[in-house]
Amino acid sequence: MEAIEERRRQRELEKQRLLEALSQYRGVWVFIEQRGESIHPVSLELLGAGRKLADKLGIELSGVLIGDQVRPLAETAIAYGADQVYLIDQPIFREYRSETFMKAFVHVAEKYKPEICLFGSTINGKDLASAVATDLKAGLTADTTVLDVNVEERLLEASRPAFGGNIMATILCKTARPQMATVRPRVMRALDPDYSRTGKIIEERVEIEENQIKTKIIEIVKEVQEKANLEEADIIVAGGKGLGDAKGFQLVHQLAEVLGASVGASRDAVEAGWISHAHQVGQTGVTVTPKIYIAIGISGAVQHTVGMQNSGTIIAINKDPNAPIFNFATLGIVGDAFEVVPKLIEEIKANLYKEVQHV
Ligand SMILES: Cc1cc2nc3c(=O)[nH]c(=O)nc-3n(C[C@H](O)[C@H](O)[C@H](O)COP(=O)(O)OP(=O)(O)OC[C@H]3O[C@@H](n4cnc5c(N)ncnc54)[C@H](O)[C@@H]3O)c2cc1C
Repeated sequence: MEAIEERRRQRELEKQRLLEALSQYRGVWVFIEQRGESIHPVSLELLGAGRKLADKLGIELSGVLIGDQVRPLAETAIAYGADQVYLIDQPIFREYRSETFMKAFVHVAEKYKPEICLFGSTINGKDLASAVATDLKAGLTADTTVLDVNVEERLLEASRPAFGGNIMATILCKTARPQMATVRPRVMRALDPDYSRTGKIIEERVEIEENQIKTKIIEIVKEVQEKANLEEADIIVAGGKGLGDAKGFQLVHQLAEVLGASVGASRDAVEAGWISHAHQVGQTGVTVTPKIYIAIGISGAVQHTVGMQNSGTIIAINKDPNAPIFNFATLGIVGDAFEVVPKLIEEIKANLYKEVQHV
C-alpha cells in the first residue's frame, strides 16, 4: 500500500517538475525563409496563422530571420504580423546550409525558449525543422494543414491528413518544448501587410567559423520555372496516380499532343515526381475552367475537384465505376487508361487525317 502511495507521489512530483519546466517557454515563432531580397510566401502565410495562435495564447509572435544583409526583411515580417524579429545577419549565412542554420536557430531557441515554432513545408523548411527538433529533442509534426491551440493546456493542435487522407489526425506534443510543426504552402492565409506596424528587431550573433562547417557551396544552379498556362487553356488533359509511374504518365502527354491541349495533374502525380507543381490542379494548385477537361486515373478527391469542377465538359476515364470523379463528369469511361487512351489517340489521329484529306 505504502509503495503504491509512494509511486503516486513520485508521479505527481514528476508531473509538477515537467509543468514547471514547460512553463518557462513562451512565444510563437515563425522561421522566416528568405531568398535574398524577398521572403518566401509560406513564411508570410505562417505569420498570419501564428498571429492567431499568439493572440489566443496572449503571447508575442516572433520571426526568426537568418541570412546575410537581410535586415530590411525584418520590417516586412513585422508588417505581416510579427511583434518582433530575431535577426542573425552574418556573411556565413548567405546561403542556406542545414548545419549553419540549425546552429543559429538552436542558439536563439535555447536562449529565448519559444513555446511554438512553425516552419514552411519547403525543402529548406523541412530540412531545418527536423534538424532543430532533433537537436532540441522537441516534437515535430510534419506537413500540417490546420493549426489551433488548446489555450487551457497551452497545447498546439497540429492537424494533418493521415491514412491516405481518409482522416485528419491532430497531433499534440505534451512533454517537450518547443512544439514544432511544418506547414504546407498555400494552406494558411497571410494577413494584409500593414507597414505602419512597429516591432522590435533583436540582433543576435552566432560564433561560427567557415572552417567548422562540413558543407561547402560550390555552385548554385537555378531551376528554370516552368509555366503550364493552364488558366488560359481551352482543353486540359490531366493525369493522376492511376497512371502508375512516370512512364504511364506519358499517355497524358501523348493525348494532350494530339488534341493540342495543356497537361494538368493531380497532387499525387506531382508528389510522385511525374510532373512539376506548375501543372497541379486543385486546392493547392491552379483553378481551371477549360472548355474540355479530361481526367485520367484521377479519383476525384474534393481538393482536386474544387480546381476543375467549373470546366465546360468533363470527361473522366477511370477503372473504378464508383470513383467520385464520375459525379462531376459530363461523360464517363469506365476502363483501364492503358487500353482506353491509346485507342482514343488512334481514333483522333485517324479522324484528323480524314479531315485533312477532306480539306
Ligand atoms: C490540404 C490538401 C490540399 C490538397 N490539394 C490538392 C490539389 O490541389 N490537387 C489535387 O489533385 N489533390 C490535392 N490534395 C490531395 C487529394 O486529397 C488527393 O489525395 C489527390 O487528389 C489524389 O490524387 P489522384 O486522384 O491522382 O490519386 P488516387 O486518389 O490514388 O486515385 C487514383 C485513381 O486512379 C484510378 N486508376 C487506377 N489505375 C487505373 C487505370 N489503369 N486506369 C484508369 N484508372 C485507374 C483509381 O481507380 C483511382 O480512382 C490535397 C490534399 C490536402 C490534404
